Amino acid sequence: MDKLIDTKKAKELRRNIERSDKIVLTCHVRPDGDAIGSTLGLWHLLKELGKQPTVIVPDKPPMNLSFLPGFKEIGINTLHPQFCEKSFEEADMVICCDFNTPSRQDNLAQVMLNSPGMKVLIDHHQEPSAFTDIEFSYPDMSSTCELVFRLIAAMGWYGEVNLDCATSLLTGIITDTRNFSVNCKNPDLYDILMRLLEKGVDKEKIIKEALTTRSLASLKLEAYAISEKLEIFQRNKGALITLSKEELDRFNYEKGDTEGLVNRPLEVKGIVYSIFMREDADCIKVSARSCNGFPVSEICKNLYGGGGHLQAAGGEFHGSLEECRKILIENMDAYNKYLRSTKSSIV
Ligand code: 5GP
Ligand code: MN
Repeated sequence: MDKLIDTKKAKELRRNIERSDKIVLTCHVRPDGDAIGSTLGLWHLLKELGKQPTVIVPDKPPMNLSFLPGFKEIGINTLHPQFCEKSFEEADMVICCDFNTPSRQDNLAQVMLNSPGMKVLIDHHQEPSAFTDIEFSYPDMSSTCELVFRLIAAMGWYGEVNLDCATSLLTGIITDTRNFSVNCKNPDLYDILMRLLEKGVDKEKIIKEALTTRSLASLKLEAYAISEKLEIFQRNKGALITLSKEELDRFNYEKGDTEGLVNRPLEVKGIVYSIFMREDADCIKVSARSCNGFPVSEICKNLYGGGGHLQAAGGEFHGSLEECRKILIENMDAYNKYLRSTKSSIV
């Protein structure tokens, strides 16, 4: 199970955790199930070990994760900046989960970097920048939560994984694999699932809470986006949805309401990639998903200074929604070379 993990490095991490008391667990901006699952999963483990851990996140996590034990204890930088800064200042160790570069933390990045604590990276994104003292970067893994589980096993703390820790970790695996439908080819993942179920995790509850429960307004927003705002680009086998602030307001948009929307166009036969642009208060948030190995991470990196995984990526654009849309449309043809030559048209 733990054969993929560098055991020497895992032991080094164990030694350093044993020496530390105050440990901050932190993640990327707009945290998702994997970011919250991995930080809370470690939080429960460290509490079990008698440490004083704190989860600090850049901004508010979505409410579909509020069922997770410990959710209310999370320190949110946009709401309680002083508490967050103090936690980093006092930390013996800072564990950075599910992001590969400080800029993914927005305003929290400098606070994190200023911490005197030893820094550890636990992440599954490509090409991490060198900002930590110990790095566990495994881009082939389904999720940071999968990596955290393997790391815990490699450190010899499987026995200390309690139900709350297991629930948090399975949540990240389930959200990042969309309930075992993407990035889940490795048979070991099902071994991990089995071990988490043995801890008593309620998988059905996780799926219901984290993936399939939503407000009526968000369901209507998705229906509107698909019926009124979906653009199909036949030659590019691409799909685009844009939602302006005014449209979001019309449907009483709340954080997390458009989660999953970007995947919907991929249900259409022949569509290889899908891009969703949302006009947030501070930027245009770009989300991209694909199939058949089409590198949406390249589009996000080249056009929007973002990144992510080959088939699931994102970025931020500073300008108008229309400009953001235009840049994509003007550049789409350059990515046709990545389309596998299938004759199938979009039907
Ligand atoms: P999502 O579309 O769910 O926001 O993100 C999909 C993937 O792309 C995640 O792995 C996420 O970490 C990455 N991602 C999203 N937004 C950004 C961004 O602004 N910059 C970078 N580098 N990665 C992003
Ligand atoms: Mn992740």
